[in-house]
Amino acid sequence: MKKELIFMGPPASGKGTQTKKLSAETGFVHVDTGSLLREAMAKGTEAGKIAKDYVEKGALVPVEVVAQIIKDRLKQDDVQKGFILDGFPRSTEQAEMLDEMLKEIDAGVEAKATVIYFDIPIENLMERIIYRRSCPKCGAIYNLKTTPIEKEGHCNECGAELVQRKDDTEEIAKNRFDTYFAQTAPLIDFYEKRGVLVKLDATGSIDEIYEKLKEVVK
Ligand code: AMP
Repeated sequence: MKKELIFMGPPASGKGTQTKKLSAETGFVHVDTGSLLREAMAKGTEAGKIAKDYVEKGALVPVEVVAQIIKDRLKQDDVQKGFILDGFPRSTEQAEMLDEMLKEIDAGVEAKATVIYFDIPIENLMERIIYRRSCPKCGAIYNLKTTPIEKEGHCNECGAELVQRKDDTEEIAKNRFDTYFAQTAPLIDFYEKRGVLVKLDATGSIDEIYEKLKEVVK
């Protein structure tokens, strides 16, 4: 199985949910820049303070801030098992930066990394965002419309109170989609030309998509 994976796709296309499943099964480390930035913001670190304004507007955080966060994470030993980058790179500039970082970790990895593009019509994604809640304790993600919740407002897995991300409002999500189309979508072509892009049909149930994902990363 491929050990270096990059998941890309529009906001709420299911990357996070599928990464969690795949990393639980394979032990690959889930490297999610959005979560790392939210963590830095909650802790009030320098990076978090800079990131806050951008995240709350739905814009990309400056590349040097994200690059440092990714570099620190990829330096840790556990990534040797394999890793899934979820939400990075998000621009051509970041993709080029990633090439350099990967060369430092393991020469030749650049050629091996596979990019999985979550191919899904964007029409229903706004609704997914608005109904999305997550568990701050165990990281489980829910859609209030489609997932039965055993105790209202609480996580089925660990019982903690579910929260809504501040940027999961319609207004901010609109900006996130604009940012995605302007800055991230050009990466589809970028990686396709390199011959490392695999399109995953990201429609259907979570389990159906997961089965398709396992086939493509084999
Ligand atoms: P996500 O959790 O992936 O939806 O990301 C939430 C927000 O974090 C985005 O809207 C950006 O403001 C910021 N962010 C996450 N990943 C990146 C990245 N690779 N580059 C710049 N900003 C990012």
